Amino acid sequence: MHAITRVRHELKRRQLVVRSVEPVTPLMLRVVFSGDDLADFTSLGPDDHVKMFFPVAGGDPAMRDFTPRAFDPVARTLTIDFALHDAGPASDWAKAARPGDGLMVGGPRGSLVVAPDFDWWLLIGDEAALPAMGRRVTELPAGIPVTTLACVSGPAEEQRFDGACCLESLWVHRPLASADNPRALLSALRALPWPSGDGFVWIAAEAKVARALREHVLSERGHPPAWLKASGYWVKGVADGRETFD
Ligand SMILES: Cc1cc2nc3c(=O)[nH]c(=O)nc-3n(C[C@H](O)[C@H](O)[C@H](O)COP(=O)(O)OP(=O)(O)OC[C@H]3O[C@@H](n4cnc5c(N)ncnc54)[C@H](O)[C@@H]3O)c2cc1C
Repeated sequence: MHAITRVRHELKRRQLVVRSVEPVTPLMLRVVFSGDDLADFTSLGPDDHVKMFFPVAGGDPAMRDFTPRAFDPVARTLTIDFALHDAGPASDWAKAARPGDGLMVGGPRGSLVVAPDFDWWLLIGDEAALPAMGRRVTELPAGIPVTTLACVSGPAEEQRFDGACCLESLWVHRPLASADNPRALLSALRALPWPSGDGFVWIAAEAKVARALREHVLSERGHPPAWLKASGYWVKGVADGRETFD
């Protein structure tokens, strides 16, 4: 019951070409890549990540982690959603991306496959987590209760997640400059009734925020650690920052 399995994949680098660039919201850009190198691409987990190699003038490429938001094996297309922010090789590259641009992508190296047989799911995160949250909603089975609690900079940044699950989508707002302040998500989380039965809780956000949310779920809600995955997807003020807690 509730099998949680790590699957490793052969590590490969693939040369891809931008097929299209479309805004999802003003600060979230969807880039669809294509390429024959995608023929054997595998992504089994909605929170898998690929390493993307962004060109840096006069230096080695900058590697950053991104979620395969969608993959179409027939069309050989890989969709990545970029949360835009002030500056950084990935965000800067996405803002300037045009069809025909090339980019090297590595991985995914592995997948965490969580059996979808939980009674309920709670997915919490900020902008960087929305691609993984959206993909999970798409992939969970019909009728299963799923709550998403997401933090963005305002109503214009809210997006619609499509799926067959029974979805309750909650949004809270804070300025991006306060993205390392857990207050907005934490008070919304405190106000949530905790369902009975076995649930899986997934958290990804700026590291300080993810840490505070994880602490609440484990200490105040007494949720089993085995049924929680929490990650710091980025660290305010740190280039290529991330944190894992378990
Ligand atoms: C497993 C995993 C999956 C991820 N998937 C996605 C994804 O699908 N889409 C996505 O957009 N991001 C995703 N991220 C987060 C992304 O890797 C980071 O945001 C990354 O730091 C962006 O690189 P950059 O070159 O733009 O900025 P960096 O050079 O890394 O950082 C420059 C500055 O920008 C700040 N910064 C970085 N990210 C953000 C942000 N999101 N908001 C505000 N300020 C920021 C940093 O604190 C730093 O001060 C994921 C991270 C992990 C660990």
